[in-house]
Amino acid sequence: MSQIIEISHVKYAYEEGGPLAVDDVTLSVEEGEFTAILGQNGSGKSTLAKLLNGLYLPDEGTVRVLGMDTKDEDRIWQIRQAAGMVFQNPDNQLVATMVREDVAFGLENIGVMTEEMPGRIESALRAVGMEAFMDRAPHLLSGGQKQRVAIAGILAMRPRIIIFDEATAMLDPAGRREVFATVRRLNQEGITVLWITHFMEEAAQCRKIHVMNAGRIVRSGTPAEIFKDAAGLRALRLDVPAMTQLAGELKKRGVPLCGDILTIDDMVREVKRLAAAV
Ligand code: ADP
Ligand code: MG
Repeated sequence: MSQIIEISHVKYAYEEGGPLAVDDVTLSVEEGEFTAILGQNGSGKSTLAKLLNGLYLPDEGTVRVLGMDTKDEDRIWQIRQAAGMVFQNPDNQLVATMVREDVAFGLENIGVMTEEMPGRIESALRAVGMEAFMDRAPHLLSGGQKQRVAIAGILAMRPRIIIFDEATAMLDPAGRREVFATVRRLNQEGITVLWITHFMEEAAQCRKIHVMNAGRIVRSGTPAEIFKDAAGLRALRLDVPAMTQLAGELKKRGVPLCGDILTIDDMVREVKRLAAAV
């Protein structure tokens, strides 16, 4: 099965007859993908995330995770285990006095046997590079470290997909990079990632982007395709990544940069090429 998520014509309003927070959204995510949902505050990203793991049920349309309909009550725990969620504020996700207990928390909820727990906890913490902190107190960790522990808590449940809802929004730039790098590695190891963000720089590093505005998906494509249309994005109160903007300004002034420039790495590649040609 290759479509791990299938959302079909989903509508959702918080009040009956009220404004649609999610308005006729159709999209699918293939297993193994690294997909961004990019949109301004209030565009409906978090509502969509909560529709994905059955926290909310669609008013119209269907949401399927691994072929299971979120409206199927018998499947809801299977869906939540298959599609883990990591939220914005790490402090709300960590509740225990020791890192290992926090990672164990979800396992207890899904009824994993006690003897199976230590192995799962250790490998989850190893996967996010936090195994050395197993016996530490979560509240003493940095924001980035806390978020990695929260990710380990989800990983221990062996999900197929993880939905990150602005998981780096409360972190400093170093913490943001640290968490993003961890998530990229997990994706390379086979976990499907849905990365919800309003940071252009992060979306630029995903494989595919869906842009949300006023509850709708208004653009879908690769980062290069999406960020080509700077004016269109600005109309949606979104920007292009700083490096793309800089490349545009330099080209206007006659600097012969080539190819798509979305990230610092792209810019470094081009500047090195130009310098070598001088
Ligand atoms: P985003 O995550 O992109 O910031 P949300 O999904 O949180 O967007 O919000 C989408 C729309 O739904 C917004 O207009 C927001 O005001 C509204 N909304 C969000 N949560 C609630 C809620 N609990 N009750 C009523 N309206 C809500
Ligand atoms: Mg949100």
